[in-house]
Amino acid sequence: MNDEELLRYSRQIMLPQVDVAGQEKLQASRVLIIGLGGLGSPVAMYLAAAGVGQLVLVDHDKVDLSNLQRQILHSQQDIGHHKITSAADRLTKLNPHLQITALDHKLSDKELREITQNVDVVVDATDNFETRFAINRVCVETATPLVSGSAIRMEGQVSVFLNRPGTPCYRCLYREEGELDGSCSENGVLAPVVGIIGSIQATEVLKILLNIGSTLDGKLLLLDALHMEWRTLALKQDDECPVCGTRSTERRAH
Ligand SMILES: [Zn+2]
Repeated sequence: MNDEELLRYSRQIMLPQVDVAGQEKLQASRVLIIGLGGLGSPVAMYLAAAGVGQLVLVDHDKVDLSNLQRQILHSQQDIGHHKITSAADRLTKLNPHLQITALDHKLSDKELREITQNVDVVVDATDNFETRFAINRVCVETATPLVSGSAIRMEGQVSVFLNRPGTPCYRCLYREEGELDGSCSENGVLAPVVGIIGSIQATEVLKILLNIGSTLDGKLLLLDALHMEWRTLALKQDDECPVCGTRSTERRAH
């Protein structure tokens, strides 16, 4: 690390859990962020600012006026342009040391698997369950840690899936797409709620990369922002889970 970097990251290096060795570990890390909307914005900005060396960013959407209420990576002049372009631009201004790989198309399962195999952590910041399930499947297959978040109305939830043997996966939590709630575009969301959830996702990513503390692996953290109440639920691996379950017939068939 040069003097500029030592000063840039000084407030983090001061932490005994980080120190110079931890900061160097972050610089050598690579994180995949899927979705650069309300959740992906704070995740990407905090990881870039904190000194994660490489970010792989995926989003095929363009910036819409209705995004600007909460998707703080993007600005008025970005309307109509790819989110990936404004994201890369904003993050490079924040931290010129950052290496960005920006992908502006929907990933095939094959591409997703290839990229996932080459990153340390995957962040799910998407808003549809087909994509969420695809990301989970690949993370389980490749045993890659997944940090998952969602926010809707004035509610949010975060969890970590380390995808080690015996730990639950995202699919253990949600068996059917019908159990799920829909997106912000259908239900609305209070702007800073995505910021709270995205910031927790970024915190969990840094802890996984640094291998410090305890994460939300095996836990689901739930926020009710209307009453500012938090709850933590314990998650267990579901033997019958179609993705990771040991007794699942669907899994055996693959
Ligand atoms: Zn599972």
